[in-house]
Amino acid sequence: MSFYADNEDIRFYFERAIPWDEIRAAARYKGREVTFATTLEAAEFYREVGASVGELVAKELAPRVAKIDREGATLENGEAHDGPEMAAAFRAFKDAELHRMCIPAELGGLDVPLIVYFLGGEMIARADVSAMTHFSFHGGMGLAMLWYSMQEGTTKLGPDGIDFAGTRFADYIQELARGDAWGSMDITEPNAGSDMAALRARAELGDDGVYRLYGQKIFITSGHGKFHFVVARTEENKDPHDPMSGLGGLSMFLVKAYDDLPNGERKRHVVIERLEEKLGHHGSVTAALQFDGVPGELIGKRGEGFKYMLTLMNGARVGVGFEAIGLAEAAMRMARAYAEERHSMGKAIARHEMIADYLDEMEVDIKALRALAVTCALNEELAQKLYMFSEAGDGTAEDRTRAKAEMAKRKQDGRRLTPLLKYAATEKALEIARRNMQIHGGVGYTKEYGAERLMRDALVLPVYEGTSQIQSLMAMKDTLGDIMKRPQAFAMRVAEARWQSISLRDPLARRLAKMSTLSLSAQQHLLTRTAKDKWKTLAKEPMSSWMVALTKDWDPKKDFARAMLHAERLTKILADVAIAEILLEQGEKWPERRELCERWLDRAELRVRAMHEEITTTGDRLLAMLEAQEQEARASGEARAAAE
Ligand SMILES: Cc1cc2nc3c(=O)[nH]c(=O)nc-3n(C[C@H](O)[C@H](O)[C@H](O)COP(=O)(O)OP(=O)(O)OC[C@H]3O[C@@H](n4cnc5c(N)ncnc54)[C@H](O)[C@@H]3O)c2cc1C
Repeated sequence: MSFYADNEDIRFYFERAIPWDEIRAAARYKGREVTFATTLEAAEFYREVGASVGELVAKELAPRVAKIDREGATLENGEAHDGPEMAAAFRAFKDAELHRMCIPAELGGLDVPLIVYFLGGEMIARADVSAMTHFSFHGGMGLAMLWYSMQEGTTKLGPDGIDFAGTRFADYIQELARGDAWGSMDITEPNAGSDMAALRARAELGDDGVYRLYGQKIFITSGHGKFHFVVARTEENKDPHDPMSGLGGLSMFLVKAYDDLPNGERKRHVVIERLEEKLGHHGSVTAALQFDGVPGELIGKRGEGFKYMLTLMNGARVGVGFEAIGLAEAAMRMARAYAEERHSMGKAIARHEMIADYLDEMEVDIKALRALAVTCALNEELAQKLYMFSEAGDGTAEDRTRAKAEMAKRKQDGRRLTPLLKYAATEKALEIARRNMQIHGGVGYTKEYGAERLMRDALVLPVYEGTSQIQSLMAMKDTLGDIMKRPQAFAMRVAEARWQSISLRDPLARRLAKMSTLSLSAQQHLLTRTAKDKWKTLAKEPMSSWMVALTKDWDPKKDFARAMLHAERLTKILADVAIAEILLEQGEKWPERRELCERWLDRAELRVRAMHEEITTTGDRLLAMLEAQEQEARASGEARAAAE
């Protein structure tokens, strides 16, 4: 049994669709030994890595998941411990040297591309999503350290190449690569989750030049790890009336949570207060932590915490996208197996029309989401590699300039597509897990088959690493902001999509163009109505002048109310269209993929039409109600103030 060999869609990417040559070309730095003589050789090795992960996961993790779910983690004498089965699976991962997969060779790693790591992560999540979450805080944490040190300039990067070995966190990264330690990302606090500007944990710089951290963090995955990235406040919020201004005073720190002393004892600096009692994800530790003067190393400059956090989160959100797909794959396979075996009213339930429809939709959704996830991962990977190549690449000055331009495009595409992936994959995983339970009927509600475990585990996916609503707000703001920045380009896109929807020869391309027309029409509607709602006169002005007017007098609490109301609907449209574009492109390169594109369009077209209808015809009543509530609150506040 192998989670690689039995998945022809994953093999399609490893064997045909991943542009190994492009990845390899972008990873040529000065002074670096070339590991593989040809791309063919390199690709063969990466496939072997993928296949080994698939076998290992099927052998060492999958058989343990029911016990992992039952055992959970424990807290004894201030130390959190993974359950025995989880610990055994991670020993196997360590023995197989899985944690060093993506780390550069100079730091003891295998140096395989990120895409292998992400697809490997999907296979781990197919077995157990809590194991995948914990896994990501090993090698992934090392990569983040390396990336941070490049960004802040402590890893030398220039005409002589990249000094990976001399990087600021070299020792820590090697510890992580060996699997001797792991880390965590500590952002959330009791009163600040989505609202990061409200974070209160603080860092104070002492006379000895050392920063010390104070405060509480909650919900910290793998919070029993050694290396913590902690976001803490170094500057007070300058404008309490602006809900976003608090972001500017945040800084990023690397905190060592404990030291293991030569006498075998552990000296703990960060206190583990409790482990959260969760509905699912029982294998992974989720901890509440207390910082009481714990020393931390500043990353980058003071006040750059939000920027550094976003860098990490983008990759982490792509990771959660793959996690969600892994879980959905498990749910679909479980549903199909049960539906084939269980009979009702004279035939297997898989042959009953409604159930067959569910199974068909699950298969299409998973493959379509994987196409989006792979695209996001490649954007992330190539943007990073092209950045390094443009600074220290082993090519001509012209090559490096070209790399810079390509990097900017990859970055932009990554920023556009990642919230769509996080939103669509996690919401779909939940829907698929729920349908799997339904297909199991009564036994789905028992622990016998594990359908309920998948459902419990799926529920958190649209919550952590930025909720679905936050992803929707990001997608909406970027989309509308882009139109305001380049109104002419938008007008061109509208005209182009309209023309293509009638003129293109390929019927699938025509259908996609029709969907794009609806998407652009929804965007235009939101922008025009938002402007009308706020400034009755603005709608008469040219769109190019809106950006200045809209941002000059901006009240984030209520402006863009209509766009915020419909942000999730818009995100659904954007995700459906983005996936259709990727699948059509695949169909052009590999004709056998056209069938998938067609099946996707069959369902997505209807959804886009429905969402367009909702966006353009609903909202007035709710917005009027919110406005009235706001006015009432303001009036009673003023009355209270006058009485005092
Ligand atoms: C199992 C688990 C693991 C986690 N791991 C980590 C971790 O490793 N590190 C870490 O720092 N955190 C972690 N978290 C915390 C997680 O990131 C937060 O729970 C999440 O960001 C939401 O924050 P919140 O819980 O404070 O909800 P809130 O921010 O209070 O949100 C509550 C609801 O309101 C919605 N909402 C909030 N603001 C808006 C808005 N402007 N518009 C529309 N809707 C809005 C949200 O979408 C949500 O539905 C984890 C959580 C869980 C459950």
